Amino acid sequence: MDMTTSASVPTASENAPAGGGTVTDRLVDANARYAAEFTDPGMDARPVLHVAVVACMDARLDLHAALGLELGDCHTIRNAGGVVTDDVIRSLTISQRKLGTRSIVLIHHTGCGLESLTEDFRNELEAEVGQRPAWAVESFRDVDQDVRQSMQRVRTSPFLPHTDDVRGFVFDVKTGLLREVDPAA
Ligand SMILES: [Zn+2]
Repeated sequence: MDMTTSASVPTASENAPAGGGTVTDRLVDANARYAAEFTDPGMDARPVLHVAVVACMDARLDLHAALGLELGDCHTIRNAGGVVTDDVIRSLTISQRKLGTRSIVLIHHTGCGLESLTEDFRNELEAEVGQRPAWAVESFRDVDQDVRQSMQRVRTSPFLPHTDDVRGFVFDVKTGLLREVDPAA
């Protein structure tokens, strides 16, 4: 690794993993090792537990480990905040209507990056690039309220046939524990 550290902005080589190559090269190398050990489990595309999990993309949230999930168990739908956007409804609709899931688990978390943003982010983008994004930032201040809003969006979607088992949680990134959010509170 290039150990030159006098520049205040890290160079590409300083960001590269030890051993050379880009981070993507490292992932591709890891995949070769994974595939060497891989045997076809013979599953079809329908999740074994008939559940879809919608969660924040946060790097500290290892969904499979945190929820005891195995390969093939669930659909995993992730974005910034774990927000139930139109595109999440699209995925859930396909998940339920074409791939047999019935339950939905929503997981937001402590220390989410969206808590430090406001809708002003869209104004900043517009000022910088001359175009206003069509999407909302979906920033929030109260994580419990944000989970409730997501549960409400799922429950009121006309496209989802199964909304009787929808539960929302906050994952604590410091303890690894889930806390359920009361939808009625
Ligand atoms: Zn987050």
